[in-house]
This record gives sequence, structure tokens and C-alpha cells, in this order.
Amino acid sequence: MSDALSHCCYIGLGSNLDEPLEQVTQALQELAALEHTTLLSASSLYRSRPVGPGEQPDYINAVAQLSTELAPEPLLNALQALEQAHQRKRLVRWGPRTLDLDILLYDNLQLNSQRLSVPHPFLAERNFVLLPLMEIAPDLALPDGTRIATLAQRCGNEGLIKLPPQR
Ligand code: ATP
Ligand code: CA
Ligand code: CA
Repeated sequence: MSDALSHCCYIGLGSNLDEPLEQVTQALQELAALEHTTLLSASSLYRSRPVGPGEQPDYINAVAQLSTELAPEPLLNALQALEQAHQRKRLVRWGPRTLDLDILLYDNLQLNSQRLSVPHPFLAERNFVLLPLMEIAPDLALPDGTRIATLAQRCGNEGLIKLPPQR
């Protein structure tokens, strides 16, 4: 299931279990190797304080820009297969996980299906998504025209640390 056109999309990566730095670093390589897809750029890695239930470890986050011929649902399938390959288990909503891959934006598409909401519904509120996005696409805007820069300024950098480049 692919069409011949390339689409520009942004993927949010997160991990807070089983060596999160390595999980995210490896996931970036796996995104680069995805069928019908090219990894165009990747942000720095960030350390963020968890949002979600109870005590859980800090997250490592990053954002990747892809060019892909996959339509949104096949792309989600591919991302979920990668999550599974990282032994992700869905125990509680927003609980700790080895790998989370969210479709943040897909061209200027606005989509609300049972499986997929694009833009990602919490994109505008999460500094661990907005600040990495700013790093790789400072001029980006949402389909409704809202600039990422405006949202990033609004959300601040509380709880977020940009990490130096990994070896
Ligand atoms: P959050 O949405 O707050 O980031 P989460 O990433 O922890 O939560 P998951 O358990 O990873 O949530 O995913 C739950 C479901 O969300 C998935 O099975 C998928 O069908 C759906 N979903 C809806 N929109 C998206 C999207 N843009 N990217 C990835 N999954 C999405
Ligand atoms: Ca998520
Ligand atoms: Ca997810």
C-alpha cells in the first residue's frame, strides 16, 4: 500500500525503559531503513520528565523528518511493527515503554480515524516534541497555519534537557 508520491512527515520518538538512549538511537536507524522511506533529518536527543501515571523513569525523546511513499495507515503499521520489535508492551496508558513512535505531522493532512489522528493531538502542548521539531524545522506550521515557533515559545523548556551529540 503505497502511492508513488513522496510525503513529508515528522515522527516523535520516545523511550524510558531498557537503555532508552540506545532504543532511540537504534530506532532512528530503523526509520532510515524503512521501506519506501528516507530519513531526511533527526533532532538531537532530549531528556524529559515523564507525563503520565505514577513514578516512572525520565524519557529520551527525539523527532525525525521522513520522506515516505507510505500512506498514513501503512506508515502507522510500519511504526507499530518497530515498536513491537523493541518489545513494547502496552500495560497502562502513558506508562513506561521501550519505544513510542508517533506520527506528528504528515504533509498538511488533517485526519481523524479510529486508529489515527494527524496532526498528533498533543503536539501543541508537549515541549519534548516542539523543541526537537524547532531544531530540524524552525519554519514549520500546522495545517491550520499555527507556527511551531509560536507553540514552542509558549510551552517553554521545563523538564527538558538537550543532550550533546552521541558517539
Ligand atoms: P499519546 O497519544 O498521548 O502520545 P501514546 O503514544 O502513549 O499516547 P499509544 O499507546 O502509543 O499512545 O497509542 C495508542 C493508539 O494511538 C495507537 O494504537 C494508534 O492507533 C493511535 N494513534 C492515533 N493517532 C496517532 C498518531 N498520530 N501516531 C501514532 N499513533 C496514533
Ligand atoms: Ca506518544
Ligand atoms: Ca504512540
